[in-house]
Amino acid sequence: MKGLVLRSVGSSYDILGEDATRYKGRLKGKFKIEDKKLTNPIAVGDTVIFTLENKATNDVMIEQIGTRTNYIIRKSVHKSEHSHLIACNIDEAFLVVTLAAPETSTGFIDRFLAAAESFRIPVSIVFNKSDLYDENLLKYKEDLSKLYEGIGYKTFLVSAEKAEGIAQLKTAASGKKVLFSGHSGVGKSTLMNKIFPGLNQKTLEISGFSQKGVHSTTFAEMFDMGNNTFLIDTPGIKEFGLMEIEKEELKYYFPEMRELIGSCKYHNCLHRNEPSCAIRQAVENNMIAASRYKNYLSMLENEDNRR
Ligand code: GDP
Ligand code: ZN
Repeated sequence: MKGLVLRSVGSSYDILGEDATRYKGRLKGKFKIEDKKLTNPIAVGDTVIFTLENKATNDVMIEQIGTRTNYIIRKSVHKSEHSHLIACNIDEAFLVVTLAAPETSTGFIDRFLAAAESFRIPVSIVFNKSDLYDENLLKYKEDLSKLYEGIGYKTFLVSAEKAEGIAQLKTAASGKKVLFSGHSGVGKSTLMNKIFPGLNQKTLEISGFSQKGVHSTTFAEMFDMGNNTFLIDTPGIKEFGLMEIEKEELKYYFPEMRELIGSCKYHNCLHRNEPSCAIRQAVENNMIAASRYKNYLSMLENEDNRR
């Protein structure tokens, strides 16, 4: 039978079978991790094929892991050469930002977007706390929406507090495995509870079950919100925008730059001060936003300092 991994606890996995039953899965003893650089073979969001071992307890044996469309990894704390697989097959990340109380910087937004591009995770940007925006901030939000929609990211304007714009977000999340990210304090919890009214109850049931409290675990878990919609909770990586990206790779993670790669005079152009740089030309012609270019340069600089 096919199933979806909702949680891993030690070497055991909570699986939602396609018959809507919950199973406890174990991996075959001789199972090999194909990617030697990963510390764990399976993560939340993996699709698996399993066989029933014990009908009474719903214990199953995992036989196969499906191909992943994407995954989030984190450097292992114990083995620096290795990475820990956190979650896979994420359909969409909602990056929750605010323009007031507090203001999320475009530096953070662009860093997050680049990291998500590197993981191949689609992102929508959610501007929350709209109830606090005056005319100027609403205008700023419109400018940012134009900028980000122009390079392929959907944007939403919502107020979790006033329950405005929630229906559109709910529709956008429907039928997907979704992740809510963003700085602490931007209103992620408030928003998720508005979109999924049963969420509090579900997280309580699970934490009661594991006797640990949901957020004491360093592993991700996924909540079944019904209608084939799943909410991924990834403690500790709410800000995965702060991942390390190699300098030479960075340009691939800015969609509006990607189109111009190959148009610069030098094939290894980093688009700083090199002559005949198509990217700098595009910035001068306002084809690439100055803020995006500035943030690109500052990410490059961070990489300089890291070496
Ligand atoms: P999280 O850390 O991202 O999960 O943020 P919380 O959901 O805990 O919210 C942080 C603070 O922002 C709380 O005091 C919320 O009441 C407040 N908040 C959340 N959404 C809104 C909103 O739409 N408008 C306003 N004015 N405050 C909000
Ligand atoms: Zn260039």
